[in-house]
Amino acid sequence: MKKAVVLVIDGVGDLPTPKTPLQAAKKPNLDQLAAEGITGLLSTVGRGVVPGSDTSHLRIFGYEPKICYPGRGPLEALGIGIDLHEGDVAFRANFATINDGVVVDRRAGRIDTATASALSTLVPNSIEDVEIIFKNSVEHRGALVLRGSGLSRCVSETDPHAKEKMPLCEPEDDSPEAEKTARIINKFTEFVYAALSKAPENKKREAKGLPPANVLLLRGPGMFSSVPSITERFDIKGACIAGGALYRGVAKFIGMDIFLAPGATGDRHTDLKAKGNAAVKALETYDLVFVHVKGCDSFGHDGDFNGKTKMIERIDKELIPILMKTGACIVVTGDHSTPCSRKEHSGHEVPILLFAKDERSDKVKKFDEISCMEGGLGHITGKHVMPIILNTMEKAKKYGS
Ligand code: ZN
Ligand code: ZN
Repeated sequence: MKKAVVLVIDGVGDLPTPKTPLQAAKKPNLDQLAAEGITGLLSTVGRGVVPGSDTSHLRIFGYEPKICYPGRGPLEALGIGIDLHEGDVAFRANFATINDGVVVDRRAGRIDTATASALSTLVPNSIEDVEIIFKNSVEHRGALVLRGSGLSRCVSETDPHAKEKMPLCEPEDDSPEAEKTARIINKFTEFVYAALSKAPENKKREAKGLPPANVLLLRGPGMFSSVPSITERFDIKGACIAGGALYRGVAKFIGMDIFLAPGATGDRHTDLKAKGNAAVKALETYDLVFVHVKGCDSFGHDGDFNGKTKMIERIDKELIPILMKTGACIVVTGDHSTPCSRKEHSGHEVPILLFAKDERSDKVKKFDEISCMEGGLGHITGKHVMPIILNTMEKAKKYGS
């Protein structure tokens, strides 16, 4: 059996203005992999579908989001290290500042992680018969989990996403479960506001003229329901190297183990060599290693063509050579396009390359959106990715006799 590394460059696909960042970047290593391997174009979720990062990653790794997508909240909660039980309802959470019920700062001045940790101790552990689990992650971010009977994911968010009045949580269907969940969340918000407003950390912030972190805004509700792991489904052990909580969460959801790489920050300053070295280490004991790099997506959202191009050049220089030395099959692709001209995700295909020793090659010499149109993998969708990888790893099961 061969081992595999799957590098997902988040949001790498783009549109030509007149070149795409992949076309403009100097990336001899990625181009060498494309020249020696086989390439194509990938629509992760479906042709023309504009994917979120969570649904697209699920699809790349062989899971149908229409069936198993639990919502963003549970994936974030898993990603920051909360163990979820069947039926848990989870939200993404932000420390924020409200004044007279109006959200004046959605990130509470981007409070530092230490302050957020201190404030987290004031969050209640239960309301009525429901257990409350809150964990802060980086800066103002965190996740909230409700655990108990009779809960529902069908409730509204309390994050207004703009400077306006913080809404109450409302049930989104007529079920007693949604009614109960909304009631618990509203009691939670009231409790948290009262506790945080009195917190010494916030009094200190106010004395310095800084916005107090006096509320938690909730969004992305979802209910956790487990899925068969990749080990159960494909008989392989998977590891994930990612800085961002969402990607770690997706990996944990499908049964991968999380490898920590020091300096893998999940942003544009991430230490790519540390990620490469963590991948080398993970390959000693795991069959498939998923490496995630976020920066290109962020530059795409900012409309920063040069930043995105330079990030690709950094990946090529700092990460790819380490992966090339491993001898594993290498898959490089994106989860979706984030064109700088649109500053948003789009439904355009992303290039994909597969390089492995003694495998087929095509005539494509460069790794970019246009060159890979001619590639030997053709146009594939997310559901094809794992079967192609498993076949290359010699782990595909025979269909028939
Ligand atoms: Zn993405
Ligand atoms: Zn994005």
